[in-house]
Amino acid sequence: MNASAPPIPLLDLKQQHAALRPQMDAAMARVVDQCQFVLGPEVKALESELASYLQAAHAIGVASGTDALILALKALDIGPGDEVITTPFTFFATAETIALVGATPVFADIDPVTFNLDPKAVEAKITPRTRAIIPVHLFGLPADMDAFLELGRRHNVRIIEDAAQAAGARYKGRPVGALGDVGCFSFYPTKNLGGVGDGGLMAIQDATLAARVRQFANHGQPPGQKYFYDGLGTNSRLDSLQAAVLRVKLPHLDAWNARRRAIAAQYRRLLSGCDVVCPPEPADRDAVHHLYTVRHPERDRLMEHLRACGIGCMVYYPLSLHLQPAFAHLGYRRGDLPHSEAAQDQVLSLPMYAELTDAEVERVCAAVLQGCGRGAGAASSSLC
Ligand SMILES: *Cc1c(COP(=O)(O)O)cnc(C)c1O
Repeated sequence: MNASAPPIPLLDLKQQHAALRPQMDAAMARVVDQCQFVLGPEVKALESELASYLQAAHAIGVASGTDALILALKALDIGPGDEVITTPFTFFATAETIALVGATPVFADIDPVTFNLDPKAVEAKITPRTRAIIPVHLFGLPADMDAFLELGRRHNVRIIEDAAQAAGARYKGRPVGALGDVGCFSFYPTKNLGGVGDGGLMAIQDATLAARVRQFANHGQPPGQKYFYDGLGTNSRLDSLQAAVLRVKLPHLDAWNARRRAIAAQYRRLLSGCDVVCPPEPADRDAVHHLYTVRHPERDRLMEHLRACGIGCMVYYPLSLHLQPAFAHLGYRRGDLPHSEAAQDQVLSLPMYAELTDAEVERVCAAVLQGCGRGAGAASSSLC
């Protein structure tokens, strides 16, 4: 390894797209030829392919993962006066959407090993006003779904899965997203299954709930009744160009996720014996490693060293949601959710994408080993 080696980015979509470019171009040209840009045949086909892939009764394309969360809450009639419990250690949208529909986000702490919402911490926060729980399959690791589903049954609250980072992940053999009442997916370009723009999908089991979502996502217009409205809705539809591109990518998703798992295994092997903590691999879950997030007590120093070595790395997420200014009115203080706060100070995500080569993973690991646990002053770019 030397300083002139090319940088290794955190994520490289160009390689994936180069391999699929002719099929992506043909799919996009087909949409332009069809002139059905919204709710066209490509969207219908993708919805049916994804319903079958996810083992969901209904799959509904929407404009984004954020909209999927909003529509899930709206369709379940959750709003002012209601509480929804979720994790503080996630992307902002998970809790932002709860507040946007007028409900109150209630944050429960995470499990310090998996970074996922801790069902015991959730149970302690359930009140008569609790209407739903939103577990997030963070970084592609399925949350503890049996425990959440059991809590949901026992306390009569709905389970909305935020599966934005977990397309293709499995919990006890079953795809995530179709385990709770509603599963929300994002096709943001960097997600494991990403479009060439914004997009999202909802997996729903109940036919009445699915019909409500479809109607709401299309301005409240009942199916087949053009320009007739029996309620308010919004415009949140997956566009056909995204659907066509996603249909090109979907057949590759399992192979990409398997390659991500192989890279994760290589990271774990090569990083054993240093003081970096790798993510756990619970035997009953197939994680899809949307991000490969390790923890280290001197995270900032390690990050600086990796960047000096040309290794892409990022902190997901640097500030827990209960400490965000946007939620200051909820009255949380530093110290309230100690596991999430420790995670925000210690996590670092390493390069992860299916096209990473074994040699590149070795280079990343060599840089990590140099940068961590080898005493003060060990981290220096001259060692790259
Ligand atoms: C990406 C993401 C979202 C939001 O999805 P968008 O499509 O960007 O709106 C929600 N939750 C989590 C955990 C995400 O990673």
